[in-house]
Amino acid sequence: MKTGIGVLKTLAVVITAIVLVSNMTYGKKCEAENNVKEQIMEIACHYCHENFSADVSQSHVNCPHCGETNEFSG
Ligand SMILES: [Zn+2]
Repeated sequence: MKTGIGVLKTLAVVITAIVLVSNMTYGKKCEAENNVKEQIMEIACHYCHENFSADVSQSHVNCPHCGETNEFSG
């Protein structure tokens, strides 16, 4: 009987380890995907020349200072 409980405990530890590792891998995957989708950079507005954070992976962004649309030419 003692051996049986030991095997169960080992299984539980192994399963916990697998769940932990897969959670970590999943988290890293999400992080990488977000990095590809969004490229936040500090840019200067083309119109009022104020600096602001913008997602340069978009084709354009509205300046929070003057409201003008800044277009990104790739
Ligand atoms: Zn502006």
